[in-house]
Amino acid sequence: MVVLALTSFHFMLQLITILNRCHRFPGFVYQQARFSSDHKSIEIDVRPRKRSAAVCSRCHQPAPGYDQLPERRFEFIPFWGFLVFLLYSMRRVDCRRCEAVVVEEVPWGDGKRTLTRAYMLFLARWARRLSWKETAEAFRTSWDKVFDAVEHVVTFGLEHRVFGQIDAIGVDEIQYAKGHKYLTLVYQIDLDVTRLLWVGRERTIESFQVFFTVIGDELASKIAFVCSDMWEPYLKVIREKCSEALHILDRFHIVAKMNKALDEVRAGESRRMAHEGFAPVLKKSRWLLLKREENLKTEQRFRLRDLLRYNLKTVRAYILKEAFQQLWDYNSATWAGKFLDEWCRQVMRSRIEPMKKIARSMRQHRELILNYFRAQKLLSSGVVEGLNNKAKVTMRKSYGFRTFRCLELALYHSLGKLPEPESTHDFF
Ligand SMILES: [Zn+2]
Repeated sequence: MVVLALTSFHFMLQLITILNRCHRFPGFVYQQARFSSDHKSIEIDVRPRKRSAAVCSRCHQPAPGYDQLPERRFEFIPFWGFLVFLLYSMRRVDCRRCEAVVVEEVPWGDGKRTLTRAYMLFLARWARRLSWKETAEAFRTSWDKVFDAVEHVVTFGLEHRVFGQIDAIGVDEIQYAKGHKYLTLVYQIDLDVTRLLWVGRERTIESFQVFFTVIGDELASKIAFVCSDMWEPYLKVIREKCSEALHILDRFHIVAKMNKALDEVRAGESRRMAHEGFAPVLKKSRWLLLKREENLKTEQRFRLRDLLRYNLKTVRAYILKEAFQQLWDYNSATWAGKFLDEWCRQVMRSRIEPMKKIARSMRQHRELILNYFRAQKLLSSGVVEGLNNKAKVTMRKSYGFRTFRCLELALYHSLGKLPEPESTHDFF
């Protein structure tokens, strides 16, 4: 027993030596380490260094001591299957600058959070690779603590990020909460920097305007390109805030819109045929029609060819959609414009209402679409699409997220390329 206790004592001394190597703060000392009574965790006492003044958490200046609060536990990075806690009694200071009694700030903690900064950074890095739930399970902690960790890191990142010059932005909407709610996402899509700049509730004029308040008029006025879809509130804000920028309705958004119209035609016709007792030829045709033909498997390609023999609205809409793809092969805006006009003329004669609606919208936004060709050498196409897919993956990985706040944090965390809090050591 004595031997064991002694070994344990030496081990605990070594632990303090290691901590002093990787997690040392002037003004504080590690005093003693021991196993908790259930032997599941290691507890380390922390004390202020003698004659080292506490720092006021409000003004960040040293201040005379007032009293001491009961001991708090700060969770540190787990070690060989043991939870690790730093135990410390926070001092309160009588701060003359703040004219108040204020709790001190400690370099390893962040306000009322129960995890150490080092552990929060550690967890947050894992939460970028795994879902928050998986991260909590892997490190035997709770989902709420992972939330805290990500919130801490993202808050730091947003406070310390530098916008620099922004040449190009893309604005996009995304559905969440089972499709009932929308977020507005604004990306920077410069050639050398692509990142999420802003997440807003809803997809209204007011919500998008907040983004411009955040970056300020000076930066906004220097934006040269804006990509968006045909959502009227976005168009309006862009006209107002980026009047000098080249506004592009980009390929990704137009293709998405076209697919939606085709799907509407198919669903309507399929219902009508079932109702009138026709053979269900359109059944399970959704993906055949929405995928590009070159992406279909051989068997699917046969089925598509079979389907195309029918004289159906869906088939005609499909052919119009496929014909439209040619647009993207043009290099000159002039020729693309001629093609677009001809395509719209054909569609307007088609008597397929969802497609006609698209054609009308295209005529209305003709110049914005042709801007795609005017700008295509300067903007890497598909950037918005790539970011949008990443945003969707982030949302899918986060099935525990119900609230806007969670989604906002998760999206900034994985797509914002935010600066991370500095660390005393790289706890990889
Ligand atoms: Zn103060």
